[in-house]
This record gives sequence, structure tokens and C-alpha cells, in this order.
Amino acid sequence: MTATYKAIEVSKPGEFSQVQKPLLDPGPNQVRIRLAACGVCHSDSGTVEGLFPISWPRVPGHEVVGRIDALGSGVQGWAVGQRVGVGFLGGACGYCEFCRNGDLVNCRNQEFTGIHSDGGYAEMMIAKASGLMSIPDDLSSAEAAPLLCAGVTTFSALRNSPAKAGDLVAVLGIGGLGHLGVQYARHMGFEVAAIARGAGTAELAKKLGAHHYIDSVATDPAVALQELGGAKVILITASGGKTIAATFKGLRPGGVSIDLGVGPEPIEITSTDLIFGERKVAGALTGNPATGDTTLRFSALTGISPMIEPVPLKEAAAAYAKMMAGKARFRMVLVIRNGAG
Ligand SMILES: [Zn+2]
Ligand SMILES: [Zn+2]
Repeated sequence: MTATYKAIEVSKPGEFSQVQKPLLDPGPNQVRIRLAACGVCHSDSGTVEGLFPISWPRVPGHEVVGRIDALGSGVQGWAVGQRVGVGFLGGACGYCEFCRNGDLVNCRNQEFTGIHSDGGYAEMMIAKASGLMSIPDDLSSAEAAPLLCAGVTTFSALRNSPAKAGDLVAVLGIGGLGHLGVQYARHMGFEVAAIARGAGTAELAKKLGAHHYIDSVATDPAVALQELGGAKVILITASGGKTIAATFKGLRPGGVSIDLGVGPEPIEITSTDLIFGERKVAGALTGNPATGDTTLRFSALTGISPMIEPVPLKEAAAAYAKMMAGKARFRMVLVIRNGAG
């Protein structure tokens, strides 16, 4: 009899089902992981809504924490029993032009977890060893899960930004990414301005570490940022070209607006605002595995953790629906195994 494991797969756009899948051995340079937790991320919609070309059925999920259960041939540096994480980037190839130049994020042969291969809405998963991140003992699996995508994305963008300690950094949007972005920005030593819609988020933003709160309904956020001296960096965690355009003039000369939110809207900025002040617009795509390790270690050292709503694996469809409705506070996490995982 073949061993099987439980998984929540999407059989066609929008349709979840719970299935038993046969347990496979990891191939060369892969590991098999017994999963403890998996975060539910907005990018899962790439799979669930079929926004990417998907070969159905597919198990979504790319904020995965678990323990290595088996090693494929050729895997070095990882051991059975070790607690590891897998993020959106499935693992660099190591031989393409970008890998050879040290740019693992933009590897030409990078697969996306839960899109090109089965992800973490399951009890077991096979992953490429080159994409693994290591989880510090001080973080629980459920807390660590969202840090593997939402955490790495905000941490890496801030860490690679031109902002230095004491500079004004604005975080636009206090949601799954933004609530982590504010905490990282504060602990990296920046003066932090949080921007969100409505007065209701002010208290939370301050609690997360923001020095200033800007209600974008009541005030023009660009003007408010200029009154604070102008931002060196604006971290855009809400999707939409309009939010980038609305805050762009809040950048000080030489400042950069870094977009983390994917959306179809064009970004309408005048060349005047771009040139006079030498401002920039940039995109940032998650981070490499070493930056992931650092994100997790930095989080453990500084006491940064995501605000999560844990739910059992079998409630994956409901958790996904709640996240898509914008009702998650702030990350839904599927808890697959309790305790030390
Ligand atoms: Zn490569
Ligand atoms: Zn994600």
C-alpha cells in the first residue's frame, strides 16, 4: 500500500478540494518536508484564480514551515529533522547568467512555489534545497510562516533601499505586508511614517512602531510627508498605481518609491516630479534565501512577529476567502501540525 498525505488542491480556477496524494521521494537536489504551518498570501490568487498558466490540479501556498523528512541525492548543507521554510521563489538553478552573477532572485529558471510546483496547503511537500531558509528556534512555525513571504519582501526591500538610520521612511498600507514593514522600519532605525485610509488605524500603526500616522482620507499624504521633511523611501504595500502616484511628491530629492503590490493599474507620474528632485520608482521581488534567513533571525532578535489568525488546514478555502475579502487581521495561517512541528 502506498503512503499518502492530505492536501488541499485547486482542481480548476476557484475550486478547492481536499484530497489524499501519494507520498513521493524527493528527486536530486530536493528535500521532502513534513509541514507544520503555511501562510495564506494574496499571491496565492495567482494559483487559485488561475492568473498564471497552471497545470491543474495544483496545491497553493508559499509561506511554508516544516521539518525535513527526507533528502534527495546531492543535497548538501541540510539535514533530516531540521526546521526549514520555503517562500515564493522555489530555488535558483545555480548556473544561469543571473545566478552566476549572484542575483538569485532573478534566476531565469526559478519556479514559483504553489504555482509551478505543489505548495504548502498540505501535510507534505517537496522543495528544491536551493530555495530553503532556516527557521530560528525562538519563532513558532505559525509565526514564522508569514515572514517567509510578507516578511522577506518588506525586510529585503528596506534593507536594500538607500535609507540610512534616522531617515524618514513611509510605509503605505497597514495590512499583511505593511504591518510587518512598519515594525522592520522601526527596528532598522528609521523615522517611520505609516500611511493608511481612515483614523481607525492610527493606534495600531503607533503600536507597531510608527512615529507618525498619516490618514490618507483626511489629508494629502504627499503634503504630509513633505511637512515631515520628505521621505527617503516610500514602501508601497498596497497594490495600485494610483497610491504610488498620490504619494510620489512626498519623496525628498533622491528618494525612491518602492512598489511591492502587484496590480494592473498604470503608474501615472509626471516627468517633472521625476526629474526635479531626481526621484525614482522601483519594484522589489521578495528576497534571496540568505536574506530570508536574516529576516527570520532579525525578527527573533527584535521580537517582531506577524499578527496571525491560525486555522486548521481543512479550512483553507475559508481562510483564502477571508484573506481575499480583505478581512484577515493580518495574516491567515494554516496550522498543519501543532507544537514544535
Ligand atoms: Zn539561475
Ligand atoms: Zn506571498
